Amino acid sequence: MKFLSSLTKKDLQNKICLLRVDLNIQNADLRGQTRGTTRKQNWHLRILAVLPTIEFLIGNGAKVVILSHRGRPQKVSSIKYQVSSYTLKPFAKILSSLFKKPVHFIEGTTFHAWNVEGDIFLLENLRFLKDEEENSGKLAKQLASLGDIYINDAFAVSHRKNASVAAITKFLPSYAGLLLEKEIKNLDKAMKSPKKPLIVILGGAKISDKIGMVKNFLNRADYFLVGGGMANTFLAAQGLPVGDSLYDKNADLRGLIRGLTRKIVLPVDVVIYKRQILDIGPKTIEKYLKIIENAETIIWNGPMGYIEDKKFRKGSEAIAKAIIKSKAFSVIGGGETASIFQNSKLKTQNSKLFLSTGGGAMLEYLAGKKLPGIEALN
Ligand code: ADP
Ligand code: MG
Repeated sequence: MKFLSSLTKKDLQNKICLLRVDLNIQNADLRGQTRGTTRKQNWHLRILAVLPTIEFLIGNGAKVVILSHRGRPQKVSSIKYQVSSYTLKPFAKILSSLFKKPVHFIEGTTFHAWNVEGDIFLLENLRFLKDEEENSGKLAKQLASLGDIYINDAFAVSHRKNASVAAITKFLPSYAGLLLEKEIKNLDKAMKSPKKPLIVILGGAKISDKIGMVKNFLNRADYFLVGGGMANTFLAAQGLPVGDSLYDKNADLRGLIRGLTRKIVLPVDVVIYKRQILDIGPKTIEKYLKIIENAETIIWNGPMGYIEDKKFRKGSEAIAKAIIKSKAFSVIGGGETASIFQNSKLKTQNSKLFLSTGGGAMLEYLAGKKLPGIEALN
């Protein structure tokens, strides 16, 4: 894999760089940011994450054409998409205010940055083009014709076999951007050479997505601390009553049951509301914090409870605080899990804490799977 960080001004000056990033952020999560009233450290993690590579490219005299998708566009007719929730247009304004220079928004795929004044261009949502998700060589070639170099900085999308992530690398010299490089190095550190004890903390809703990672870490990790819907699934699998709680009836926990008693630690008490388990209880928090205290490496994906309601955030916030205080090298991933560190007053001042921008991509990477976007760079 070639890294953008190894290129210099000599390589980049006057080059047009196609930069695939992940600006997949919903309108609800953008409030304030489009009006320019938000302080920089409070910007959405995904916006902050794209800045270093863009700065690097501009600083080295390149022009940047930013590529991204946003959401899963719904069709309003056989050819028209519902635009307002899915257009990338607001991001042109946001990036422009962050870089203090114009960011040109481009609809369609037939413009040429060569003939245009300006350094930064943003293409409309690639998923308005159906070929994107089909990994079409035709679209990849068309996109490639817009630039000289391709850079993948969209770790969170690298598990998708899409034209702007995978097929495009066949047509241009291709590099891993600064963010992708950081993601790979941090995840490798936690997965391939962790200082022990290694503690994996798992919760959240997408349960079957996490089983592969548990299997890949059964021999590597010392403990799995389980909460959220994940814990409910383990409890239900043991025949315990979980009422109307969120759990996955179809999750295949066979093969994990043997390790269950030894490494997989389940809640000893829970917070119940209207027949649902919505958080881990105080005894469980205490038990989990004791184990976290001794950790040298921590990986966390998935909240311990229904964090959208403040009443059920206690478990997740206690864990977040313990991680911030900890001496361990920590990798935190997943949209909701990372938001616990962002939206609360907990500041991410711990330099040994890495907030990954990947949810599904991080889980697949940690499950030991090959990600199409990363393979395409190799
Ligand atoms: P992430 O976004 O960090 O990858 P997931 O998407 O897997 O995590 O799960 C996050 C969601 O899980 C949150 O919306 C949270 O409310 C929900 N959740 C976690 N625990 C529970 C629970 N016990 N009951 C209901 N929802 C839960
Ligand atoms: Mg999520």
